[in-house]
Parts: sequence; C-alpha cells; structure tokens
Amino acid sequence: MQEKSSELLKDVQRVVVKVGTSTLTHSTGKLNLYQLERLVRELADLRHRDMEIILVTSGAVGAGMGKMGLKGKPKTILEKQATAAIGQGILMHMYEKIFSEYGETVAQILLTREDITDRGRYLNARNTLLTLIKNGVIPIINENDTVAYEEIKFGDNDTLSSLVAGLIDADLLILLSDIDGLYTADPHKDSTAKLIKTVNELTTEILELAGNPGKQGSGGMVTKLHAAKIACNSGIPMIVADGSKEGTIREIMAGLNPGTLFIPRDHRIKSRKCWIAFASEINGYLYVDSGAEKAIVSRGKSLLPSGIIKAEGEFVRGSVVGIIGLKGEFARGIVNYGIGEIKKIKGCQSKDIIKLLEYKDCDEVIHRDNLALRV
Ligand code: GLU
Repeated sequence: MQEKSSELLKDVQRVVVKVGTSTLTHSTGKLNLYQLERLVRELADLRHRDMEIILVTSGAVGAGMGKMGLKGKPKTILEKQATAAIGQGILMHMYEKIFSEYGETVAQILLTREDITDRGRYLNARNTLLTLIKNGVIPIINENDTVAYEEIKFGDNDTLSSLVAGLIDADLLILLSDIDGLYTADPHKDSTAKLIKTVNELTTEILELAGNPGKQGSGGMVTKLHAAKIACNSGIPMIVADGSKEGTIREIMAGLNPGTLFIPRDHRIKSRKCWIAFASEINGYLYVDSGAEKAIVSRGKSLLPSGIIKAEGEFVRGSVVGIIGLKGEFARGIVNYGIGEIKKIKGCQSKDIIKLLEYKDCDEVIHRDNLALRV
C-alpha cells in the first residue's frame, strides 16, 4: 500500500492543507504556539521545495474564545460571529509573523458559501487564488464566519477545503486533525479499533464508520468523509493525518502515509466540473431511467430527453439540476432546456423535439461537457 501512496503522491505540486481548531488551540482556548510554529515550519519547508501551498485554517472562533476568556463555545450566532472577528485577526497575525520568519508571504482569503455557489464569484476566487499562488504567496483561507449565518454556512472547514482543492485544481488535499485517520471503530471507546490505511471506495460501510464531531472544532469524521467524497470524485487524493505529530507533512510527502489515504477516481476533473458537481446550487431534479443512468455513468454519454422520466423544480435553460437514478442523485448538470420544455419532451426521441416544441436548440437536455458525476 505504501507503493500506492508514493505512486499517487510522486508528482504532487499543489497542495491544500487544512488544519483544525483542536490542533491549533489548547483546551484553554488559547493558541497552541508550539503546534502553530511547527506547522508553519513544515509548510514553509514545502515552499522551499517549490511546492504550492494553500492553507485552510480553522481556529478563529477558538482563538477569539481564548482572548475573551470564554470557557465554552459561544451559543448564539451573534456571539460566534463576534468571537470569530476577534480570533481571525489573532490567527492571521500569528501566521504572518511566523511565516515571515521563514521568508514566506501570506495572504488572507475569507470565503462565504455564495463565493462558491455563484459561478462568477467562484471564478473570481479562483483567479485571485491562482494569482497569489503564481506569485509564490501562501493563501490562508477560512470561512468568513463574521458574516456567515447558519443557513448559508459551509459550517466546517473540511468541506470548504475539499471545495477549494477542486477550485484551484490541487494535486493533494491534507486534512490535519487530532486523530491519525479513519478507524474501524471509535479508538477512544474500543481498544481493538484499527487505523484504516487506505480507502479505495467510499462504501456505505466506510461512511458508517464516522463518529460524532470532536469537542473543539466543527468537524469530526462525518465532515472528513464528506470532504473525501468531494475530493475523490474530483480526482484529488486526500489524506487525513494527525496534525499534532512532528513530521506528519514530511512523511506524507515522502509517500509514507502516516494516516488514512483516500484514493480518488482514476481521472481528474476540471474545476468547472467540480463546481457543477459539488459547489453549485441546484434548482431542480431530473429523474432518469436505468438505461440513461448507465449511459451517463459507464459510457460517459450526454443526457437525452428519451431517458427522462420526470422533471421537478423551477429552473430555466442554464440552471444546474440534480440527476436522480435508481439509488438517488448520481450526477449534476447544466440544462439546455427549462422545466416547462423538459416536461413536454421527456421520454421522446431527440428528433421529435422540434415537433413537440416547434424549435430545437440541442439534441441533449444536458450535454456531457456540462455534466459531472457525484458517485
Ligand atoms: N471557521 C471556523 C473557525 O475558524 C472553524 C470551522 C471548523 O472548525 O471547521 O473557527
């Protein structure tokens, strides 16, 4: 298996590293300066090897709690937002200070969900990030907690970091946590629990292994597996490893896999398709028959009207919709026809579209170029 990870990681150039609150703060809530210094040193060293690093950091709320002497997590949204506003500055100040000591330049990027769901803003974020990376700068990303309220939040930086990895076409996503990976059972409760070194497929059994979120961060294995789904479907390998252990990042880069490696699909998908599959907001669903599902999943085909059984939602040409097959949603795509038109042409042959609508823009309801798998 070591061979597999060294093979997968041998050409890695652009890496997204996510670090969780529990790695960055003590149980008092104050920043864990030892960990922070070590992490920055290891990342700066990757820069010295000419790798491109994008850091997704949690810890704003944690650092704010430490500064204000709060014992528990703030309960109301307003308090959380205010605490994050206090902590984000502290966090960035420390990163700026320590990275500078190693000669590295950092930039702060705070993202909200709309920056990812809105195609125009997604592209803006991508261009800014790519410009920073091109200039040798390390972007440091967090959710913009001070303006994000519950309904529109990513909520956890595991998910955010996997979307960022797709956004900038990363070669690898590393999630540094307070646990060294995915176990066969909860290692705090079960002494026979074993670390799973490699996950080849996110089966139902694997998804069921996720326990509850950890104490300080918002993550836990549930969000890590969600991130793995996004990363692996985008063709990006992901590793979960213990961020508090000296040398973790170096070991990963040497292909030694100190944690759990999630193996991606065979092929990389472009950031545009990552956006369609995982970042965009959907406006409706198309239910398709098993023939269409198979053609899309196994043969890389477009979605034609003949395979559509039912359409629901409110969408127009150019909207993103979910495609539902036998076991639920398996793909998303940008439609060439609105809901009213699809209701008229569903089940028919493409050559009959013109008779039914009195015009025809395309044979496909969703062209393959605008379609991305989620399984
Ligand atoms: N954005 C939150 C913070 O910086 C953390 C979210 C998470 O723990 O994943 O405090």
